[in-house]
Amino acid sequence: MKIQWNKNGDHPDDDCGTFDAGSGPFSGEGKIVRYYRHPFYPGTNICLSCNKIMYEHGWIDSGSEGFKVCPGNYIFHTDFGYFPAKTISEVAMILRPHMQCNCDLDKWEPERSTGHSSVCRIHKKALELWNY
Ligand SMILES: [Zn+2]
Ligand SMILES: [Zn+2]
Repeated sequence: MKIQWNKNGDHPDDDCGTFDAGSGPFSGEGKIVRYYRHPFYPGTNICLSCNKIMYEHGWIDSGSEGFKVCPGNYIFHTDFGYFPAKTISEVAMILRPHMQCNCDLDKWEPERSTGHSSVCRIHKKALELWNY
């Protein structure tokens, strides 16, 4: 399922909960798309991908690494977890290390959208995720 993310709490699985520290109720951090925090990139920095400040961004944990989430990115869910992408070719790039590309087994030209041929399982999975 493709979910567009713009701010904390936008993902249906975020389950932010509501807290009250005495100054009124507020929504907690999303469980899927977390607050963006980085030791070397302060929240006032401008994002090179979208030109918005980092405070407006989210973060998806993924093993020892993770994904920066720009406002407007789509969030996808696969058997290896959640990830953000802006285009279908980014989806194909993120799928690449997780799936066996079978472009080589055929004589088809690569599709412009994904860079994989139409019979490749990465192309099919990217299309499925993008269009669902
Ligand atoms: Zn950004
Ligand atoms: Zn392929």
